[in-house]
Amino acid sequence: MNSIFVYCEVTEEKNIADVSLELLSKGGKLANQLNAKLEAVLLTDHAGQAINRIEQFGVDVIHLAESEELFPYRTLPHFRLVQTIFEREKPEIALFGATSVGRDLAPRVASALRSGLTADCTSLEIGDHVEAKTGKEYKNLLYQIRPAFGGNIIATIINPETRPQMATVREGVMKMEEATTKKKAEIKRIDAANYLQPEDFVVEIIDRHIEAQKVNLKAAGIIVAGGYGVGSKENFKLLYDLAALLGGEVAATRAAVDAGYSEHERQVGQTGVTVRPKLYIACGISGAVQHRAGMDQSAKIISINTDPDAPLNAIADYAVVGDLNEILPKMITYYKKHSK
Ligand code: FAD
Repeated sequence: MNSIFVYCEVTEEKNIADVSLELLSKGGKLANQLNAKLEAVLLTDHAGQAINRIEQFGVDVIHLAESEELFPYRTLPHFRLVQTIFEREKPEIALFGATSVGRDLAPRVASALRSGLTADCTSLEIGDHVEAKTGKEYKNLLYQIRPAFGGNIIATIINPETRPQMATVREGVMKMEEATTKKKAEIKRIDAANYLQPEDFVVEIIDRHIEAQKVNLKAAGIIVAGGYGVGSKENFKLLYDLAALLGGEVAATRAAVDAGYSEHERQVGQTGVTVRPKLYIACGISGAVQHRAGMDQSAKIISINTDPDAPLNAIADYAVVGDLNEILPKMITYYKKHSK
C-alpha cells in the first residue's frame, strides 16, 4: 500500500510526544511527494485528546488500539500490535522517534519483518536509484540520511527491495508544522485482546519511578552554549549569568561535558539534543560537525572564539574574535545596563 506510517508515542502526561508530531509533519511532506496516505499508529489506554492532536497534522488514517495493557509502554504488547498492523497494511515507509521507546520497538519490528532500519536519521528525502551492477532502476525510494563514521561522512542509506522502509529520527531534528488544511482522520480500531498473547505479558510493571526532566533545551528561545574553550566548570558561571539575563538556557559541547564542565543533559549535537533556538551564542566552541548537527538550524548564531578560523565562525551570523573571559563579562555588563 502506498502509505507512510508514524508510530505515535504517548508521554507520561498522555500527550503525543513532540518527536512523533515532528515525524507526522515530515511524513505529511513525504506523503504529498509520493501521493501517499499519512497514517498514524496510536496504542494507549484512552486516546482522549490525542486523536484531535494527531488530526492537526493532516493524518488520513489513525490505527487505534485502546486497552489498559498498552499504557505505560511495554515492549511486547506494542511490538505485537505494530507488527500485526504493518503485516496487514504493508506501509511503504514507517517512522519512529529515536527515543528509548522507538529504539526499543523499531528494531524488533524491522527484524520481524526483515525490512532493515536506519537509526538516528538527520534528513529524509525521496529519490531514485539505479543499481550499479544490474542497472535496475528504483523509483521514489526513501533516502535515509545520517552522519556515519563518527560524523566524517553523511551517508544516504536506501532500502530498495524490502518494505517498509524504516527509520528512526531524534527529537528536534524535523520541524513541527501543523497541516494548513485540517481534516478528520479515518479511525481504524484494533481490538488488542484479539492479538495479544499471554507471553506478551511476561514483563510486569510492579512500580514506576519517574524523574522529571530538569533541563528543556528544546523549548529555550535563547541558548548560551559553552565548549572546551570555557576552560572550567567554574567558568561556566559566566554563561549561566548571561543566560539568566537573556532568559535563556545553558548548553555544552561533548568536549565540555567530557571534561566535567557541564552535565550530559545539556549536550547539544549528534549524541546530545538537537535544538533550533532563535539565538545560539557559542562560547569557546570550535564547531565540529557532530556539534553543528545539533544546532545549525538555529535562527541566529553568535560565535565567540579566539580563533578566527574556527569552523563554527563559517556558519555564524556574527563571529566575535576574542577571549570569552573578556567578552562575556562585557556582554553581561552591557545587558544589565540596557535592560530593565
Ligand atoms: P574544541 O574542539 O577543543 O574547541 C575549543 C574551542 O575553544 C577552540 O575553537 C578554541 O579556539 C576556543 N577557545 C579556547 N580558549 C578560548 C577562549 N578563552 N575564548 C574563546 N574561545 C576559546 N560533540 C558535541 O558537541 N556534541 C555531540 O553530540 C558530539 N557527538 C559526537 C559523536 C561522535 C561519534 C564523535 C566521534 C564525536 C562527537 N562529538 C560531539 C565531539 C566533536 O567531534 C568535538 O570533539 C567537540 O564538539 C569539540 O568540542 P569543543 O568545540 O568544545 O572543543
